[in-house]
Amino acid sequence: MELQIEVTLRDGTKYRTRKYKSELSAKRGIFKWLEQHQHLPDISASYFSPELRQHQSFDHPEQLQMAQPQANVDFYQSSAWRKLRLQVLQTREHRCAICNRTQAEHNIAVEVDHIKPRSKYPELALALDNLQILCLDCNRGKADDEY
Ligand SMILES: [Zn+2]
Repeated sequence: MELQIEVTLRDGTKYRTRKYKSELSAKRGIFKWLEQHQHLPDISASYFSPELRQHQSFDHPEQLQMAQPQANVDFYQSSAWRKLRLQVLQTREHRCAICNRTQAEHNIAVEVDHIKPRSKYPELALALDNLQILCLDCNRGKADDEY
């Protein structure tokens, strides 16, 4: 009999399943799916492992311990940063800290900015208090001030 792994992918309260022919391909599939959907607030992927005889559940690609294509992941690509960035955007309503405009109301692009620059204060790179939301206009203004 051919081995089949049924993976359940959950996005909030929505579920769907995918079938894989081996546990390894299931894990690869989960890894890729989690990476692609990390921007969503509540996701998980699970399957029953015949090898371990238990349910495996993941909500983060790093849990799969797949080989990263680059050993040294760029800071802005790191999952720690991406999660924190998302948290800041959601809790502060995508609102620019300087001009108070929001993405939803004013159709502006916003970014999460380090108040104390990461180059000089690497220890504050993931400190919530050191982060602010800026729209692109204000962020450009801030950069000009620094020169
Ligand atoms: Zn602004």
